Amino acid sequence: MKSKFDEFYYENDAKNHPASEYWELYDKNPREAIQKYDDHMFCPLCKLAPLSVARGYQRRYFRVINSNMNKHAVNCSYRYNKATQKETYKFYKELDETDIRNRLVSCMNRMLKGPSQNENKIKSTSKQSEKNRNNNFLDIQGDRGQRKYLPHKNLNASNLDEDIDEQKIYYGRCALWLYQYIPLEEEEIKMYYLKVLDRNNKKQICEIAISTYVYNYLADELSQIPQNKKEALNYYICFSGILQKGMYSYKCKLKDSRLLVLEKE
Ligand SMILES: [Zn+2]
Repeated sequence: MKSKFDEFYYENDAKNHPASEYWELYDKNPREAIQKYDDHMFCPLCKLAPLSVARGYQRRYFRVINSNMNKHAVNCSYRYNKATQKETYKFYKELDETDIRNRLVSCMNRMLKGPSQNENKIKSTSKQSEKNRNNNFLDIQGDRGQRKYLPHKNLNASNLDEDIDEQKIYYGRCALWLYQYIPLEEEEIKMYYLKVLDRNNKKQICEIAISTYVYNYLADELSQIPQNKKEALNYYICFSGILQKGMYSYKCKLKDSRLLVLEKE
């Protein structure tokens, strides 16, 4: 199955954007969207292969057409297929926690942040630097030794319920606040809920339940997050888990402190 992208790298501001940004403008003014974005959108990972837009009434997505596949960087995961459920399950079952943490940090840096000032300078001189970058942090070995990439999703994508029962790496530029759950007539915190909001409209996308045990390992970072919604702060967030549909938003339980990385924007 060819990869469909629910985010794109926009060369004019050197950042990744969720596909919804394109469609919001497109629905208001198609010509403006096409003029602004088409021919300026690239693979969100290697930033080299151009994206084409499918504008079907029911089927809207971004893809890299066959004749452009070889424009992905040599080490770009999107040259390969997504890991199957079985392969993904096996990966997380035999998880090396240091390895996954490194992957999440790379994911945050490559998928969410723009290039640093230094990188910008290099970039203006050649595209060569892109080719040598760490583009394979999502890769694992499939059943038969072939390269595959781990399921992952931008939290700002509109289709979060797609393949929802498989464990994925979720990442996004979101506003965060932390709710401490203390049961009635008790004094001790029973559970922490990290509330992940859309940074623009402050609607809750998901909440991550964090036990007090896991919290202890993350206390330095989590204690800096505001404890009420009105003060929610913008963060880069990346975590791995299985989302479930809850009453008000998606929810997820953090199994290990090394499955979550955060950085204030
Ligand atoms: Zn690529």
